[in-house]
Amino acid sequence: MQREFRIRTRQKRELVDITSQVAEIVRASGVSEGICHVYVAHATAAVVINENDDPNVCLDFLECLDKLVPHGIWRHDRVDNNAAAHIKAAMLGPSESIPIHSGRLLLGTWQAIMLAELDGPRERRVIVTVQ
Ligand code: ZN
Repeated sequence: MQREFRIRTRQKRELVDITSQVAEIVRASGVSEGICHVYVAHATAAVVINENDDPNVCLDFLECLDKLVPHGIWRHDRVDNNAAAHIKAAMLGPSESIPIHSGRLLLGTWQAIMLAELDGPRERRVIVTVQ
């Protein structure tokens, strides 16, 4: 089965925890053993799995991306000034797959599913496929 939900981001760059929305879709699917695929249909957003207990992990991650991919020095910046967001989104990728066991996402204790907003604020579409 496949479901879609929308997230309204609030910052230029941020990580938004979407674990509960994804887990609810897995519950509703009735799938006991399978795979959950989480995908964003955007060129300046991504899906990542990491810790969301200490919020500094998310801030460090975003700061690291800023250091790796500086803003404002790329060809595409002359078009709409968001080349760094495109590059970061391509590096991170638009999706993650999580195994389902006994009807639950097999996430580790410190793992959360997060939408990476890289050129917000915007409304983002998240597509979840459960099989
Ligand atoms: Zn662009």
